[in-house]
Amino acid sequence: MGVYSHSKLSTFEQCRYKYKLRYIDKIPSPIKKSIEAHLGECVHDALEWLYKNVIRGKIPEIDGLIEKYSHSWSEKDSEEILIVRDLKKQDYFEKGVKFLIDYYIKHRPFDDGTLETEKRIWVNLEENSPHKIIGYIDRLVYNKEKDQYEIHDYKTANTLPNREKFEADRQLALYSIAIKDLYGREKPVILTWHYLNYNMKITSIRTNEELEKLKKDTINLIKEIEKTTEFPPTKSILCEWCEYKPYCKAWGNSIPKEFQKEENNRVGDIFPTVSKYLKD
Ligand code: SF4
Repeated sequence: MGVYSHSKLSTFEQCRYKYKLRYIDKIPSPIKKSIEAHLGECVHDALEWLYKNVIRGKIPEIDGLIEKYSHSWSEKDSEEILIVRDLKKQDYFEKGVKFLIDYYIKHRPFDDGTLETEKRIWVNLEENSPHKIIGYIDRLVYNKEKDQYEIHDYKTANTLPNREKFEADRQLALYSIAIKDLYGREKPVILTWHYLNYNMKITSIRTNEELEKLKKDTINLIKEIEKTTEFPPTKSILCEWCEYKPYCKAWGNSIPKEFQKEENNRVGDIFPTVSKYLKD
């Protein structure tokens, strides 16, 4: 069975070479993560903790929320975090504090009907499909008054995409297929993004017809991935944040010998026809 995720699909679309290093050759990246990813992770941890308490009937004080964030920050901090912009680690830490304070003030008492946080879902693209999409919903809400489900996603990015991007977003739309499979195809599922840097909530919805088309498009993308044999690098502005840049041939770098050896000995390279059974 081929297991895919939104980020796996996006990596293939962004740069096939990065896809090969990360998902086929499984070469450990020399950079642990970017500071943006670290910030996002710690803010997510804090909001998950907040809503887990709310589900248990307890509303934490704002200090508790910031303390949880600060704890995650130190626990997951590392020397190998990549900082591209001309800012210090402390600046990013403080950004997170501000995001959480703004969110807390705006959403207290957090009574919009949270069912689960970090909910793992499997998206079925077609009956008896050998391919599955796995995903994690930051927060799943059931809005009793409107009798609708809401998929909430937190974003810590600096930029706010335009409306078209949200209408075409694949990640939450895929997750809504799984929620409809669980709770009923006719129930509306609202896709909700919280852009914390703007203290702004953006929503969108997909029709069942649009979701059927998305399933077909995603199956076609997976088929394309599975028949791909060439993985050229695609240079872009995103290379600055790529954890494989120190190994990337497009930047005049190379993969360390120990991994090259491993790469050459892969069964999938010797017998290409069986390689599709080895991915993931
Ligand atoms: S540095 Fe750029 S070209 Fe190289 S693997 Fe990463 S995204 Fe691809």
